[in-house]
Amino acid sequence: MSSDLRTSTSIVLFGPPGAGKGTQAGNISVATGKPQVSTGDMLRAAVKEGTQLGIEAKGYMDAGLLVPDSIIIGLISERMLQDDASGGVLFDGFPRTIAQAEELSKITDVSLVIMIEVPDEDIVERIVGRRMDPQTGEIYHVKFKPAPSDVSSRLIQRKDDTEDTVRSRLDAYHLQTKPLSEWYIEASKETQLRVISVDGRGGIEQVSELIEKELGR
Ligand code: AMP
Repeated sequence: MSSDLRTSTSIVLFGPPGAGKGTQAGNISVATGKPQVSTGDMLRAAVKEGTQLGIEAKGYMDAGLLVPDSIIIGLISERMLQDDASGGVLFDGFPRTIAQAEELSKITDVSLVIMIEVPDEDIVERIVGRRMDPQTGEIYHVKFKPAPSDVSSRLIQRKDDTEDTVRSRLDAYHLQTKPLSEWYIEASKETQLRVISVDGRGGIEQVSELIEKELGR
């Protein structure tokens, strides 16, 4: 791993829904020593707890729409005050709009953006087959990563992982999130920011190796 990743700067894991960001984040977090900060996980926890924020966010999430920037920025600002964030974090699923990225740049320095590229036609199959173990948080896939038999009976499907909702999430990605990749590429021309792009079409191990190779450069 290159030494600059051990500094107090943050890393952004960027890509469409179903690109494997959550799956890859665990390894990257271990390799870089930075805690994973997933706005999706934080929102789902808030929905489960029934907090005011969770109640507000739920309708957007169920419809496959982005939660308003003000809510997300509030969540992240609070999270970044925690002790474990002082050395920078690994953002997973954040930022998702240019406005979020602009706000983020006021809170922490981003030194690396890892873009996982997966074409739309692969995304629906990936998301609709996705299952989660509620006990461990481990993510499986009915075809690409089947769960062991003692775990499979307790697996759950995320409420927004249905085909209809995936289409809305993909629309939101192309309209609101994808322009951010250009924004980061432009920013990398004028700053120390490094943007790397990884082909996310392979299996979990294969993509993981590609990312490790890039991190080691
Ligand atoms: P994820 O688990 O990252 O796919 O996020 C699940 C859902 O949470 C998304 O479809 C959005 O509704 C919401 N969400 C998560 N992160 C963000 C974000 N950074 N900005 C807006 N909405 C978000």
